[in-house]
Amino acid sequence: MPTFVRTEKCDGCKGQDKTACMYICPHDLMRLDKDGSETGHAMKSYNQEPEQCWECYSCIKICPQQAIEARAYADIVPLGGSVQPLRGTDSILWSIQFRNGVKKKFKFPIRTTPEGSIDPYGNKPEADISKISESGYFVQVGGYRAGNPAELICK
Ligand code: SF4
Ligand code: SF4
Repeated sequence: MPTFVRTEKCDGCKGQDKTACMYICPHDLMRLDKDGSETGHAMKSYNQEPEQCWECYSCIKICPQQAIEARAYADIVPLGGSVQPLRGTDSILWSIQFRNGVKKKFKFPIRTTPEGSIDPYGNKPEADISKISESGYFVQVGGYRAGNPAELICK
């Protein structure tokens, strides 16, 4: 079920060439209608191919205006209810509204290390982007080595 943009909240990320929702969508679905010629709403984003949206919630979480919502599956969010996340640097706050109007909020930590402290390469050499299209490049870097159960995070 796809996302939709609340036009009264969206500010087009203040006219940046690539909005936050365009940047984050793994399926490249979000689009900014700069002059309103596509939707009738100038400087508002929209989901250009709703049937391709897999409801990953990435755009919903990143939107600084909380302008995006998902039409969630009815067994998770029945008609009339809503689920809206607000992401912070160390936690995420979920605001739930039930069909009968009851509202609840749940806050969860989202990381255990300081923001920006993760080593994305994890002791491996930095990737040579010029070779990125070579088949099997990542596993070839440094040569093959057998897995070590002691390095597993979950045991
Ligand atoms: S991230 Fe939010 S405010 Fe920015 S363009 Fe997308 S919907 Fe609008
Ligand atoms: S929910 Fe995910 S797939 Fe759908 S528009 Fe947002 S970021 Fe893209």
